[in-house]
Formats: sequence, structure tokens, C-alpha cells
Amino acid sequence: MTTAHRLDCENEAADCRFIVQSEHEDEALELARTHMEDVHGQEYTDDELRHEHLETV
Ligand SMILES: [Zn+2]
Repeated sequence: MTTAHRLDCENEAADCRFIVQSEHEDEALELARTHMEDVHGQEYTDDELRHEHLETV
């Protein structure tokens, strides 16, 4: 079974339906970081995203 790295933005912003899911952590982090910056104007480091926002499913 493969695992995926997932960020459900609805947990962070109630009105946002954005979901990142990728088998590759690097890719998930990249997409999540870009989304957070472009849409929410918030800058997160990879470490913050990895530890506080990304979940493994
Ligand atoms: Zn969002």
C-alpha cells in the first residue's frame, strides 16, 4: 500500500476547498506552499507545512 501526503486546506481556512495530495512529499509541499502563498498570502516553510499541516494518509 502506498502512502500519500495530504493537506486539506479546509482545516486551515473554512471557506477553502483546496486539497493537496501526492505520493511525493516534495511535490505535496511545493503545491501546498504555493497555494498558501498565492491564495492566503501566508508564507510557510517546508518544515512548518510538514509538521503542522501535512498528514499522511
Ligand atoms: Zn486554501
